[in-house]
Amino acid sequence: MNATAAALVRANGVVASAVRRRHAMLTSRGALRERRPVGRRRASISTAAALSAEMDREEASRRGAAVADADLRPSARAHLPVGEVPRSVATEAGGETGGGGDRALAKVSLKGMRYADLERWLAEIGEKPSRATQVFNWMYRPGKLVADVRDMADVSAAFREKLASLATVDGDLEMRDVRTSADGTKKVTYALANGGGVVESVIIPSNVPGGRTTVCVSSQLGCAMNCQFCFTAKMGLRRNLTAAQIVEQVVHARRLAEADDEASWSAGGGEEEEEDGTSTATRRRTRTGGEVVSNVVFMGMGEPLHNIDAVLAAVDVLLDDRGLGFSKNKVTVSTSGLVPEIERYLAESQGSLAVSLNATTDEIRSWIMPINRKYNLERLLGALRANFPRRDGGRHQREVFFEYIMLEGVNDSAEDADRLVAIARTLPCKFNLIYFNTHDGSEFRCSDRETILAFRDRVVAAGVTCTIRQSRGDEEAAACGQLGSPDAMEDWKPSPPRMKRPKRLREMEMEAQ
Ligand code: SF4
Repeated sequence: MNATAAALVRANGVVASAVRRRHAMLTSRGALRERRPVGRRRASISTAAALSAEMDREEASRRGAAVADADLRPSARAHLPVGEVPRSVATEAGGETGGGGDRALAKVSLKGMRYADLERWLAEIGEKPSRATQVFNWMYRPGKLVADVRDMADVSAAFREKLASLATVDGDLEMRDVRTSADGTKKVTYALANGGGVVESVIIPSNVPGGRTTVCVSSQLGCAMNCQFCFTAKMGLRRNLTAAQIVEQVVHARRLAEADDEASWSAGGGEEEEEDGTSTATRRRTRTGGEVVSNVVFMGMGEPLHNIDAVLAAVDVLLDDRGLGFSKNKVTVSTSGLVPEIERYLAESQGSLAVSLNATTDEIRSWIMPINRKYNLERLLGALRANFPRRDGGRHQREVFFEYIMLEGVNDSAEDADRLVAIARTLPCKFNLIYFNTHDGSEFRCSDRETILAFRDRVVAAGVTCTIRQSRGDEEAAACGQLGSPDAMEDWKPSPPRMKRPKRLREMEMEAQ
């Protein structure tokens, strides 16, 4: 089937034909199926920022668990100097490489590698750097999105075989499952091929025809930040994802979108559209309303800036016009408030930034988001004031995007709304209120709808932009704060500690009883 499809593609020279589209998807799936589970690989280099290290030690100490430092810190590949390339360790048990047994075969993971690094690597293996364009095309352009080097159909056979012997393009992820909610939101589950564990991403289609589809990606397996309202936090941090694994979540979202697009067009029949003289792409766009994956948010599992090297590389690849070509204002990294990493991200990346604020006083924020004990509101807001409006490559983002999860009786008072307005008087920003999705064992509940509307109206009445984000995908646990499977992490017990409610709140509750 693969060979037939490839032959058709070569014969027709049609880049975005249905055959090629299906070919790319099938071969990608084939590659995913064929990829064998591999052994765990532990990070061996620890050059984490001081904050990360300190938080990691605190986390490990709180757990009382014997946790190797390397397990909690950004992975080795994230810290390689420019010119060195990340290596994917794959165990091919008697596979096509003829390795046999558990012999480990080190291959370079090309996905997630910046274009300039790919050029350098190609030169190192004796190839023309300009071939990076071909490779980028096959990894990232619509209708291609291959997960196996051998599917790069118009690349010479010799180059293909050479690449296949040295490199992978599957992003070190194996897709396990896709679950679709009634509202069309998809939760996609992936196994990490380089060390075990399962991560999730969420694809959120637009509510309106022709609207934007957003993919919410994970950057870590679990998270060390221990936000008290978050389901993922219960896992603790198990490992960082590589740039390849982050980028692959986006690539796969595009594959799924193309598959839906194809199915939609096929179901409607193509003959009528054949007569209108429009291009294949135009006809597909007509049938599906033109939806493509156009937005990426780093709001899945993990604190992205706790894995900043891999995230910086992934964002660079996502924004590269020679590859996936997302707009700068359509790729947003969301952070709980790691101040030094925020400053670095704003200096080095052209992606957008969102900050998960969730409280207007240090008392409450330090309770529900322990990172606030390290970087309190004054420090966080001070750093943002110093960097917004953004300069240089970030000029497209003039304001800070603040997310604010609405928690009943915790952060939803009129005084909180007034404090948000006070923040907006000192910093160009806008707020997005988020419905809290409750989960098993949570001590929090979402504010009721009337409270949220009144809160929003109070902020807007003061002249500040404030919107409400609708909850999507909650019946498949694909909504904000619902990713992860703490119960599946049997080897990662006990769960991170619960933080004590502030004394003032406890006294108020006792008085109310
Ligand atoms: S809300 Fe985000 S930063 Fe906080 S624990 Fe959950 S995943 Fe981590």
